[in-house]
Amino acid sequence: MAKHRFKTEVSQLLDLIIHSLYSHKEIFLRELVSNASDALDKLRYLTLTDEDFKGLPFTPRVDISFDSDSKPRTLTVADSGIGMSADELRDNLGTIARSGTKRFLDVMQAKAKDAKQGAAGDSNLIGQFGVGFYSSFMVADRVEVLSLRAGDEQAQRWVSNGRGSFEISPAERTGAGTTVTLHLNEEGAEFAAQWQIQDLVKKYSNHIPYPIHLHYTETRDDKTEQRSEQINAASALWQRPKSELTDDDYFEFYRGLGHDQEDPLHYVHTRAEGTQEYTTLFYIPKTAPPDLFYADYRPGVKLYVKRVFITDDNKELLPTYLRFVRGVIDSEDLPLNVSREILQQNRLLTSIRNASVKKLLAEFRDLATNNPDLYGSFVTEFGRPLKEGLYQDFANRDTLLELVRFRTTAHDGLTSLKEYVERMQEEQKAIYYITGERGANLRHSPLLEVYRTQEIEVLLMDDEIDGFVIPTIGTFDDHELKSVNRSDTADDLKTADSKAQEKELDPLLKRIADVLGDAVKEVKASARLTDSPSCIVADANDPTVSMQGVLRALGQEAEKFQPVLEVNPSHPIVTKLDAMLKQGEDDLVADTSHLLLEQALLIEGAQLTDPVAFAGRLNRSLERALP
Ligand code: ADP
Ligand code: MG
Repeated sequence: MAKHRFKTEVSQLLDLIIHSLYSHKEIFLRELVSNASDALDKLRYLTLTDEDFKGLPFTPRVDISFDSDSKPRTLTVADSGIGMSADELRDNLGTIARSGTKRFLDVMQAKAKDAKQGAAGDSNLIGQFGVGFYSSFMVADRVEVLSLRAGDEQAQRWVSNGRGSFEISPAERTGAGTTVTLHLNEEGAEFAAQWQIQDLVKKYSNHIPYPIHLHYTETRDDKTEQRSEQINAASALWQRPKSELTDDDYFEFYRGLGHDQEDPLHYVHTRAEGTQEYTTLFYIPKTAPPDLFYADYRPGVKLYVKRVFITDDNKELLPTYLRFVRGVIDSEDLPLNVSREILQQNRLLTSIRNASVKKLLAEFRDLATNNPDLYGSFVTEFGRPLKEGLYQDFANRDTLLELVRFRTTAHDGLTSLKEYVERMQEEQKAIYYITGERGANLRHSPLLEVYRTQEIEVLLMDDEIDGFVIPTIGTFDDHELKSVNRSDTADDLKTADSKAQEKELDPLLKRIADVLGDAVKEVKASARLTDSPSCIVADANDPTVSMQGVLRALGQEAEKFQPVLEVNPSHPIVTKLDAMLKQGEDDLVADTSHLLLEQALLIEGAQLTDPVAFAGRLNRSLERALP
């Protein structure tokens, strides 16, 4: 017998499962059945495609049994699938493959510490993160996995109490497959019951494509009899005609497919006939999957060929900006033995993918028009990946431009670009937008002062990716999109008067520029400020402050940040400073120049390079000002 320790992240996860997750314990059964179904999928695929496996018998089934008299009670899920060797048991049930899970765990642990209650609702995420097997430990103190890998001679038993370690030893099993036995704990005891299991299978696993049999004993006229009964529909739901299916059918299928407790926000079921025959069933979840912004996110679409499962780990089935979509693609024309590696270049698949994207986008557009409330929830949850489409998918860019939504100074809600254009002033030269950090109070930024006075609407972009994506749009409906964070934008708004005022200020601007040296790229008179003395903007091609943040997060140390400092020629501080300069008050001019820059940096959310020097200057000014 070999004893192994769980990898740290597994221990961490198990700890979280055992101690912090209270609700939805029932999902353990969905996870075990889903693993059984995956194992059957894998064996079926091999028997169809791999010479070594072609002779092997394939009689797919899942068997569930329970013992409510034993102490502790037990529940067993067995499948006739691919099985696991000793090494596979060790690797698959002792580590977590995806690195995203590690970060997810850190977040979950922090949450669990914050509020024990709060974490409970998140057990949903466990399934979505693909660490489903471990959910068994929510209901069991001890889990045994007896497995024979298809083609192997020797079966193996994996046993663990979920605390730190597990053991693997040789064992006996007839036929390939896996038997998972749960020794139920106090809270799990209720699941060793016929109606409970029947209900849960109906709820979560009704449409897995293999029969699930429930075994139970029945006492009638003092005679006890062993009985078994198929308790799921075992049909490929997506192959049934739409007219026969209800929302409930679709939702039920989704809960198993998406590992999600919630009903989906929306679904689209399409059958294509003609040059190519295929069926797609796509779901949009209500809530974004937890790994949405991880590079190693788990794709949500499964590929089938004539009802045979091919893969659920192909990120090419849909473009990455649609990675939140869950669903199934089932092709009648792809060869069954299509290798997973060459799928990428498959012409048929490319055309299914293109048609699927078109279909989904058309569906989104339809929702936007006919169901604005639902569309609102949709963009709140998925607006950000959708924006990625603007630079990933040029073919569909026009549709995507119709679909994206932004916050705006015009009202509290979200707006489309089209609505913005309808509200534009007659003389207005461009579509204006401001970028900033997520959650920043952009509405009150000094950069907007002149737009506020002139009642020009500005789009508020507080998504990190906006700064990158929006400039690639260029124009919408023949109107240029212009960032108010850039120095040239406000030039639109300059008048003859303001230009004259600017000339007069030249000596002061030169002095400020001398004082600040290479901390700034340029010092200019501002046409955009009315109330604030100064602001910083980015030069035409430089990254803005919020873009700098993103670049740093990506590990790309941005070049030295040199903003353009704009000062407000009409502000009392600036006019007084001009007077000080003429009187030769050099120290005062130096301090104030720095403070003009530093306050503008703080407002933009940038870091000060020398906070101590800043405090010194501020205090000197206060000393002078206080009576
Ligand atoms: P996931 O199913 O998302 O990969 P799980 O935690 O549910 O994650 O399972 C981990 C791994 O253990 C699976 O990927 C699979 O390789 C293996 N496994 C679990 N259950 C079975 C089973 N019944 N038959 C074969 N392999 C299994
Ligand atoms: Mg699983």
